[in-house]
Amino acid sequence: MSAERLDGRAFAEGLRGRVAEAVAGLRAEHGITPGLAVVVVGADPASDVYVRAKGKATQAVGMASFEHRLDAATSQADLLALLQRLNTDPEVHGILVQLPLPSHLDPDLIINAIDPAKDVDGFHISNVGLLGTGQAAMVPCTPLGCLMMLRAHLGDLSGMEAVVVGRSNIVGKPMAQLLLGESATVTIAHSRTRDLPEVCRRADILVAAVGRAEMIPGAWIKPGATVIDVGINRIPAGEKTRLVGDVHFDSAAAVAGAITPVPGGVGPMTIACLLANTVTATCRARGLPVPAGLGR
Ligand code: NAP
Repeated sequence: MSAERLDGRAFAEGLRGRVAEAVAGLRAEHGITPGLAVVVVGADPASDVYVRAKGKATQAVGMASFEHRLDAATSQADLLALLQRLNTDPEVHGILVQLPLPSHLDPDLIINAIDPAKDVDGFHISNVGLLGTGQAAMVPCTPLGCLMMLRAHLGDLSGMEAVVVGRSNIVGKPMAQLLLGESATVTIAHSRTRDLPEVCRRADILVAAVGRAEMIPGAWIKPGATVIDVGINRIPAGEKTRLVGDVHFDSAAAVAGAITPVPGGVGPMTIACLLANTVTATCRARGLPVPAGLGR
C-alpha cells in the first residue's frame, strides 16, 4: 500500500479539543454554555446509536445536551410546536432533528421550521442558499469534515480537479459547493453519469458519497489523488458483518496519494463538526468572533 491513510479519528480528536477550548472560553469570559438540542421521533435503532453518541460527545466538550425523544406517532403540529419552543429558548444554540422521520411527517417542512441560526445540520433552505452564494452559512457536518481533512492534507485546493460522486442534499451537493468555494474545478457525478470510471480518473480530489459497497476500484483513481470515502456500507464477513466504504480500499490505496479508511475516516469527523457548528452558532448569536479552526 502506498497511499497515506488520513486518520479521521485523530483529526476529530484534535477538532473536539479545539471545541472544548472554545466552550471553556465562552463560559469563562462570557458566562455562556453552548447548548445542543437533539430531537428524535420514533425508535429507529441506528438513529438511537447516533443520538446517544451525540449526547455523550456534547457533554464531553462541556456543552449542554438536551434530548427530546418523541413517540413515533407524534403529530406534525406537536413537533412544530416543540421546534418553536427550542427556537426561542436562550439556552439552546443548536437544534438537530434526527432523520429519517416517520413517513407521516414532512421532513422539508420540519427542517425549514428550525431557526436557520440554530440549524447546526445546515439543511435549512436559508443555509443551503447562503452556502451556494458564498455567504456565512451553517455548513452540513459531513462535507465540512471532509473539507477540513482535505485542507489539512493538501493546503490550497485552488485549481484542482475535484469529482464528487453522489448528489444528495446532505453530502454530495454541499460538498461540491464547498469545493467550488475553494476554487477547485468541480464535477458532480451521479447514477446517470456516462463513463463514471473516466470521470473519476480526472480527479485530483475524489469524494465518494454513494452508498454502494466498494464500488470504486483503484483502476478508476488517478495516481496520487486524494480520496475521501464518505460511504458507510455493511457487508457480510463470514458469520458476521463489517463496514466498508464506497471505495475498494486495498486497490485504491495502491494508486492514491492519500485515502480515508472506513471506518475511522470521515465518520468520526461528522459528530466533531456538529459540536464545532454548535459553537459557531453560539458565537454568531452573541455577536462574538468564531474561534479559528472550527469552520471553513
Ligand atoms: P443518497 O442520498 O442515497 O445519495 C446517493 C447518491 O449516489 C445519489 O446522488 C445517487 O445518484 C448516487 N449513486 C447511486 N448509485 C450510483 C452509481 N451506480 N453511480 C454513480 N452514482 C450513484 O446517499 P447519501 O445520504 O449522500 O449517503 C451516501 C453514503 O454516505 C452512504 O453510504 C451513507 O451511509 C454515507 N454517509 C456517511 C456519513 C458519515 O458520517 N460518514 C454521513 C452521511 C452519509 P442519483 O441522485 O442519480 O440517484
